[in-house]
Amino acid sequence: MVQSAPPLFRTLSELRAQIAAWRGAGLRVGFVPTMGALHEGHLSLVRAAKAQCDRVLASVFVNPKQFSPTEDFSRYPRDEAGDSLKLASAGCDGVYVPDVAEMYPQGFSTQVIVSGVSMPLEGEMRPHFFGGVATVVAKLLIQANAHAAFFGEKDYQQLLVIKRLARDLNIDTEIIGCPTVREADGLAMSSRNAYLDAGERQIAAQLNILLRQAIARLRDGDDIVAVENETFAKVKETGFTCVDYIAVRDAESLQPVQSLNQPARIFAAAWLGQTRLIDNIEI
Ligand code: AMP
Repeated sequence: MVQSAPPLFRTLSELRAQIAAWRGAGLRVGFVPTMGALHEGHLSLVRAAKAQCDRVLASVFVNPKQFSPTEDFSRYPRDEAGDSLKLASAGCDGVYVPDVAEMYPQGFSTQVIVSGVSMPLEGEMRPHFFGGVATVVAKLLIQANAHAAFFGEKDYQQLLVIKRLARDLNIDTEIIGCPTVREADGLAMSSRNAYLDAGERQIAAQLNILLRQAIARLRDGDDIVAVENETFAKVKETGFTCVDYIAVRDAESLQPVQSLNQPARIFAAAWLGQTRLIDNIEI
């Protein structure tokens, strides 16, 4: 069966009319925000939404506010036609594709800052990042007015930040986390993997392998700080050009843990040339 491309909504008023029609018909609406260049990770969120909701809205918006001036905003991969076909195949019912002026009209001056969970890890390495993410996601959640919104555990800290802001701002959308989708060799799928050349792609897979080895050692009772430091060194030796962090953290607060008697995860961020990869796994 050939699935036709879902309707595109370029303006907030078009989006609102569709959401009002769905809600008016008593339908449960699921929402999947993305920055496009879609892969199976994104599509798994659409499928999860489809399984739990009557209609699924996706958004594709490359948010300039979450990139610093030295980051990859202008070269971030964009493929509206390809994305639209992929979304159709996953059963998506509509795609919100605002441009920057629609999202941030002249005079826009509000920023959403989530303290606490947005401060460590990515917050330390990319100080501009969560302000941009929280601002756009708060806007998108308000605009989409969905019953539930679906986010990947691939960006686990981002998921916690979004859960916090939805609670704090009384946004009446359930925030649902979904498991990370990986390539066959364990590499977490990411739009940024498209930047990797063949040599870098091989090295990239080592990140997940080394995190799994670290988890095996932690489960055997090895010292947490020693495992963090030794994994950091191994990631570097494998050929990553720079390692931002390898960190074992509490799964809710993201603070360092003294023992594994509480739910914890291991988090990693590392560079291959100009490409920054992140991953995390439950311990
Ligand atoms: P992005 O387009 O990278 O901003 O991601 C949009 C959404 O897709 C976020 O909720 C991400 O966490 C999620 N996502 C990205 N990669 C994956 C993956 N490999 N598995 C599951 N979800 C993912």
